Amino acid sequence: MARQKIAAGNWKMNTSHSDGYFLAEALTKAKRPSDVQTIMAVPYTHLGAVQALTFDKKNISVAAQNFHHEEKGAYTGEISINMLSSMHIPYAIIGHSERREYQKESNSLLATKLNLALSKNITPIFCCGEKLPIRKSKRHVSFVKKQLQQGLFHLSKSEIKNVIIAYEPVWAIGTGETASPAQAQEMHAAIRKMLADKYGQAIADDISILYGGSVKPANAKSLFGQPDVDGGLVGGASLDAPGFLEVINSF
Ligand code: PEP
Repeated sequence: MARQKIAAGNWKMNTSHSDGYFLAEALTKAKRPSDVQTIMAVPYTHLGAVQALTFDKKNISVAAQNFHHEEKGAYTGEISINMLSSMHIPYAIIGHSERREYQKESNSLLATKLNLALSKNITPIFCCGEKLPIRKSKRHVSFVKKQLQQGLFHLSKSEIKNVIIAYEPVWAIGTGETASPAQAQEMHAAIRKMLADKYGQAIADDISILYGGSVKPANAKSLFGQPDVDGGLVGGASLDAPGFLEVINSF
């Protein structure tokens, strides 16, 4: 998968079925730049409806926010990768900080999930990012490096090409506080260098790295203008169609 401009919305546990449908419909019908891939990571209950709206569209599609690390079995309430694959869901978020925090998802569990997604040709959006004390003690780059080494770097060259990375500093998620464009660029460049050291520069240059953390219409342009920022993973601001369209148009 070649590097591309991506605006991915993470709806989290928001919207009723009808509100979600109308939001997805508004985004699907809207005029959007043809070189930006728009992705809507919707709740499980909305996947079928949003998939039906987008499956025949070129640059807008649906994502799952998560799936279980086992392929099937007695896991009441869980959703498997096979279920997503049987619906032809093209993307899935893996390792969002809220799941790392509340579901205690570890890097090694996330590595298992990455393997599962790739085995079903579902493109993973792999999240990483540090909490505030780590940033304050200036250990953010080495912390993220460890997340990638333990969660991602077992992949082969041909596998890593099919992964999207989202750098999301935890202190900026849902807080209204955003990393400055310089802070985002510093980390994105560091991540690209880690990828280059491990897989070679050509592969590193081909991987999309998204920034997440209070992206909104007012700051999207300056963040997306950074050379190593290929787009955004957007929470709150993706729930409002006109606002998210502004984000989509910020490249
Ligand atoms: C997110 O959910 O990944 C996120 C970045 O949320 P917000 O944009 O609301 O900070």
